[in-house]
Amino acid sequence: MMYYSTSDRSHRVGGRQAVLAGLAPDGGLYMPEHIPVLPQRFFDELRSKSLHEIGFVVASTFLGDDVPAEELYKIVSGALNFEIPLVRVGDAHVLELFHGPTLAFKDVGARFMARLMSYFVQSSKKDDGRELTILVATSGDTGSAVANGFYNVPGIRVIVLYPSGKVSELQERQMTTLGGNITALEVDGVFDDCQRLVKQAFVDPSLMAALKLSSANSINIARLIPQMFYYFWAMAQLPEGEPHVVTVPSGNFGNITAGLMAKRMGLPIDRFIAATNENDVVPQYLISGEYQPRPSVATISNAMDVGAPSNFVRMLDLYAGDVQAMREDLVGIKISEQQTRETIARVQHQYGYTLDPHGAVAYNACERSVKRGVVIETASPAKFGDVVEQEIGMTIEIPERLAQCLNKEKTSVKLSGEFMELKEFLLR
Ligand SMILES: *Cc1c(COP(=O)(O)O)cnc(C)c1O
Repeated sequence: MMYYSTSDRSHRVGGRQAVLAGLAPDGGLYMPEHIPVLPQRFFDELRSKSLHEIGFVVASTFLGDDVPAEELYKIVSGALNFEIPLVRVGDAHVLELFHGPTLAFKDVGARFMARLMSYFVQSSKKDDGRELTILVATSGDTGSAVANGFYNVPGIRVIVLYPSGKVSELQERQMTTLGGNITALEVDGVFDDCQRLVKQAFVDPSLMAALKLSSANSINIARLIPQMFYYFWAMAQLPEGEPHVVTVPSGNFGNITAGLMAKRMGLPIDRFIAATNENDVVPQYLISGEYQPRPSVATISNAMDVGAPSNFVRMLDLYAGDVQAMREDLVGIKISEQQTRETIARVQHQYGYTLDPHGAVAYNACERSVKRGVVIETASPAKFGDVVEQEIGMTIEIPERLAQCLNKEKTSVKLSGEFMELKEFLLR
């Protein structure tokens, strides 16, 4: 499989290069040259397949030319070493994607990407001996998942940029207490500043010449590929007769883009609902046909506080810029802060199920539209204990693996939003 840049379709590279580079040199995002439809037999047998079997088939479709089958199976099964259950909550079915080490869905993409990159670095024939530097901008969850996924992986160092004071204490601890090959940069600004700095680094010729740089944001195709697995897995578990509609809490739109790609592979999903908080640039686009990115606003579902979703170019690419075509597959719904809080309280009360703020945005969007089908829950409520406890009036226990990092000391490097400062740090 070859991959092209969304900025220039004639720029094509193989899977290894697309994954190691992250972003195309022209600033575009990599997309697979084509999205093959899987054979009908695969779908006929979907319900009897395991998550690892499904993951292997999907991963082979996109990476089969670059990774030997045996290695790829090891990468899939090593990355997905936790459960992804589909549980009934009210009239809907919630796909719990938070049983990984950092209790958020980004573990899926980060763990797969770390193993894949490690394979590429270690199997590289013309390895020049320089370590790979992974730059990642985070609004909270990406940084902890990526830092955790890459921790102690040889030949790779990870630099995480996060907005100072805008991530939860738990998220901050998860990024700043690992040490080793993980460095946390605390940026004076918002998430979009962090993302801008990372993007700038990738188009800076002197940095690119001096370092082997790569990205671990959802712009890396290595994160989208494993995110497709669980859409197949959700449909494999969904009881007969339920509507094939999936509601996805969205920020940078990497999660839902993977879902749209799974649909292109023939997965029978009739429609996706993109649920956002107040940062509703994409729902607005679906209404007006005009894309107007704007500065993000802070909400309680802070991993979705994105004003210029990085995967939007991939969505445009999938639909060749045709908003009408996109509307056939995708509906956008904005959920307010108050509705989010009310949903956490009500779902606890009615069904005894505790949603986190991100899942609550999706659950409420589902209630307001199809009412049934699959709702994606992206984080454990324990990660957002402060907000959730206020709404449900009970304490939530912090799982052991999270509690541990609360006792360790935070180490971070402070940075202004100036690109020169980041550059100097990287070249030190
Ligand atoms: C990152 C994140 C999201 C948003 O996912 P995107 O792929 O950026 O749309 C939603 N919920 C949680 C908990 C997240 O960490």
